[in-house]
Amino acid sequence: MSIILHVDFNSFFASVEQQANPFLRGKPIAITGKRGIKDMKRSIVATASIEAKRLGVKTPMPVMEAKRICPELILLPGDMRKYSEITDRMLRVLRENSDKIEQFSTDEAFADITSIAQDYFGATIIAQIIRNQIAQACGELCSVSIGVGPSKTIAKLASGETKPNGLTIVQPSEVISYLDKKPLEDVCGIGRATIKHLESIGISSFQTLRMASMKKLVHEFKPITGMWLYNIARGIEHDGVNDSQEDPKSIGHSYTFAHDLEFDAEIKTNLLSIADTVALRLRKMKFKAGHISLLVRYNDFSSNHIGIKLTNSVNDGLSIYKYASQLLNKVRDINKPIRLLGISTSQFSNLEKPVSLFLKDQKMQSALCAQDCILEKFGNRALCRAATISSVFQERASGWHYDHQL
Ligand SMILES: [Mg+2]
Repeated sequence: MSIILHVDFNSFFASVEQQANPFLRGKPIAITGKRGIKDMKRSIVATASIEAKRLGVKTPMPVMEAKRICPELILLPGDMRKYSEITDRMLRVLRENSDKIEQFSTDEAFADITSIAQDYFGATIIAQIIRNQIAQACGELCSVSIGVGPSKTIAKLASGETKPNGLTIVQPSEVISYLDKKPLEDVCGIGRATIKHLESIGISSFQTLRMASMKKLVHEFKPITGMWLYNIARGIEHDGVNDSQEDPKSIGHSYTFAHDLEFDAEIKTNLLSIADTVALRLRKMKFKAGHISLLVRYNDFSSNHIGIKLTNSVNDGLSIYKYASQLLNKVRDINKPIRLLGISTSQFSNLEKPVSLFLKDQKMQSALCAQDCILEKFGNRALCRAATISSVFQERASGWHYDHQL
């Protein structure tokens, strides 16, 4: 039987804003859909901070009404770029700690932790690890509630149990009694229309739903919904975590420099730095690339794009740099300063191929492995080539607009 974990951010947009801006912390704030104070006032509250909720602000409430209830309410326009950055960080944590993940909305996701957790004791530990890692990656104020259970429906119900910061585990043997304590409308998928229909045939709780035969439910609700209702009342769900992530078609990195590059040494250093970044990402995905392409953009915005098919796939920075450098020499217009450099790799083969018989290649692989372990532990800038120390290229931290404390 599967062990499913559901993660749900608490007051998501508002917590991200409070994490990003210390001046908003501890204050009642509301995120609205519109920009500009006039439009904001005609908008609705998309998310309210915990402080605002305590003062009676609810979602979705017209902003005017929220302001009447809570005059000190601070209004902020939604900033989706910021929120999706945090969602990505949460998904990365889930991916590292589970077999499969499925994003459910901007602030919710499921993870199948069956083989990693093994049992519900293991699941409790994994859930705590995930919570700590999300706090580390997204900031302490972006807290999550976690639910664990044998199905997605139960896990989602459980994560809503205690907020903020809850952790609720529902073991398979507890599912029926757990459901019996819940109103039908708490289950994701049982909407208002279904509730009305159920009530019209005398069903108002999980106990009464369990008394209805499958034949009756199928007759009333058509096969798909009828069977789903019949099963869900018994804690049965066939819909597992649906991981739709496909392997990427290409992995690359481009960088627009703070000042245009003119000198060979400077160009080489930065190209090497970009090659190392791409190589690291390839190795993280356990890929080797069979094709490398280079993008050069000059200060007048004209550009060159050129690629090369490799006979042997690569995933180390130096090899990628060598090919990119050959391509650059072929196309570069030496009269124009360079504004942007980018390297993209594609035609991947999997790393789990037989190890090379050559001692030189084996040594290189173990050196890269050691390097990746260090970077994993101490961060991407912990280790770099001496040649790239002076590169102006630095990993951009995120899509955050301002330099706020994370
Ligand atoms: Mg939420």
